Amino acid sequence: MQAINSESGAAVVRYELITCIACGIAFGVQANHWATVAQCGGTLHCPNGHENTFDAAAVFETEDELRAALNDARAEIVRLKGELVDARHRAEMAEARHETPVDSASAPKSDRRSHRGKRIGGSSG
Ligand SMILES: [Zn+2]
Repeated sequence: MQAINSESGAAVVRYELITCIACGIAFGVQANHWATVAQCGGTLHCPNGHENTFDAAAVFETEDELRAALNDARAEIVRLKGELVDARHRAEMAEARHETPVDSASAPKSDRRSHRGKRIGGSSG
């Protein structure tokens, strides 16, 4: 979409300033092209040839959208932390069930006789 300068009558082309994710160079993209990329996703190349791919789902046009996504992400973090706590608790409970109590009353007593070596074929004498 082109605007017309009311004084000069010249066409005014608006640009969005994009920063390359690979090399950091700033480059302009026509605003109408950027709007399409932001809405549908796409790839832009910086002047150094690096591909900057935009996932439509990850492009936020307004601060409100960005804040909403941030809030969603924070809620997800809280939910995942809760799941982690539950999983750790379940793991500890499972570990406790499988551990045998180690106390002298219930632990099997070692039978000394079973450890005595058997002599086969005596060489006494
Ligand atoms: Zn680049």
